[in-house]
Amino acid sequence: MAIRMIRKGTDEALREKASQVKEITPKIIEILEDMAETMYSEEGIGLAANQIGIPKSLVVVDLQEGELLELINPEIVQAEGKEVEVEGCLSFPGILGEVPRATRVVVEAINREGEKVKFEAQGLLARVLQHEIDHLEGKLLVDRAVRFLEKEEN
Ligand code: ZN
Repeated sequence: MAIRMIRKGTDEALREKASQVKEITPKIIEILEDMAETMYSEEGIGLAANQIGIPKSLVVVDLQEGELLELINPEIVQAEGKEVEVEGCLSFPGILGEVPRATRVVVEAINREGEKVKFEAQGLLARVLQHEIDHLEGKLLVDRAVRFLEKEEN
């Protein structure tokens, strides 16, 4: 495993649309493991492959509860409610914005065994999943934020 460089700010990799993963190869597993290691090293709670310069549909999430979610080709198939909360992003250090997100989502994805998984998420997990799946579309916190926090509010 290796810690990868996180792409930041105006890096074009962040605007690239991720392509679907067609086959789960050892390379894909290695990327997922590197993503987790990179996320943990930065004390993040989610990371999309675009953020390490790989435009593939891969996301890792861990709300610092030790339960790592590895999602291949994740998709939001249902979304409900709306809530505005403060969000940050490892690609935009020091920036915090208020972002409206659905309060409840249903996500479909593939796990590393190639099995289809479908689950419901609420609250912070729902927010992180929407944020990371946005990354796969080249959409960023800075596009979604309705207001940015001033330094003294951080
Ligand atoms: Zn992010």
